[in-house]
Amino acid sequence: MVDVPPPTLRLRIDREALAHNWRELDRLSGSARAGAAVKADCYGLGVENCVPTLVEAGCRDFFVAHWSEVAALLPFVPAERIAVLHGPLSNDEATYARQTGVRPVIDSVRQAKLWTEGGGGACHLMVDTGINRLGIGVSEVSEPAVQALKVEVLMSHLACADEDSSMNARQLADFQAMRPTIQHKALSLANSAGIALGSDYHFDLTRPGLSLYGGVPREELSGLIRQVAYPKAAIIQTRNLKAGEGVGYNATFTAPADMRIGVMSLGYADGILRAWGGASFRHGDAALPILGKVSMDMIVIDLGNAPDLGEGDWVELPYHLPDAAQQTSVSQYELLTVLGQRFDRSP
Ligand SMILES: *Cc1c(COP(=O)(O)O)cnc(C)c1O
Repeated sequence: MVDVPPPTLRLRIDREALAHNWRELDRLSGSARAGAAVKADCYGLGVENCVPTLVEAGCRDFFVAHWSEVAALLPFVPAERIAVLHGPLSNDEATYARQTGVRPVIDSVRQAKLWTEGGGGACHLMVDTGINRLGIGVSEVSEPAVQALKVEVLMSHLACADEDSSMNARQLADFQAMRPTIQHKALSLANSAGIALGSDYHFDLTRPGLSLYGGVPREELSGLIRQVAYPKAAIIQTRNLKAGEGVGYNATFTAPADMRIGVMSLGYADGILRAWGGASFRHGDAALPILGKVSMDMIVIDLGNAPDLGEGDWVELPYHLPDAAQQTSVSQYELLTVLGQRFDRSP
């Protein structure tokens, strides 16, 4: 066996910050308990990196989108505490839910029938109160297939929780109105931003995702939520540019004077999109501006502020999500999920 050398790009996951964020969101959820949205491999940060930490912090309820995401969670979480938000499309998926004990979130009358006809069992129910993605409509609650469900958590999802929109109160009122129309054990409405909307939105269980991983969707959460993901990369080459020479595709940067530059081993294939053009890497307090266009596997930076740096040294990309979103016009959600598989995420 030949040892594979370690990658030259790393995503450091601050597990303490992750645990802190969950505890903070659980505290803010008041008498409700906070669960965790762990879909898309914990928003790109890695189930093995995040879920054991969340469990240790006290989190019990986990939400994924796809059936394919269940297996990675099963070593850490009892099946009945895993909810699959997309629900069963086919009998195969319903059978998988029954065999594993994982809870399907029933999202339509068709899914309610499929689930009940296959034998039923405990499930969750999503009601649509205005986002118009998944969920049964208010008028469909009386359908026999829906009334036949053994609903554990009755849930809905807010469309505009990150804004001061009148839609929040409207969705809350519609959710409240659904409450007496179907038997259930618990209620759940709020995502990360919804938690900050106040106790009316908390019910029994909240479902934060973004803010666990360092996202700040509403001002009320800033100062409480810590950064979790820290991308960094090695300088794989340094070069000396002469005044007038260009850098990268289309030579969009031209050296105004002689300068020393570094080539970083990451690029848009790793999720560091061209939207980062004009931003800077960091070494301590020194800013190292990105020069020219981001390539697929490389980014060129100005080493003028860090003459001590050389080949093999590591530099960080500032990834405080609210600031990074401002800088790139890429949403905080996308900044997390876009990070590629070439990052070494190991502790
Ligand atoms: C993704 C998701 C969440 C988590 O939302 P955040 O905005 O990331 O906190 C909660 N509920 C549902 C139904 C989701 O799809």
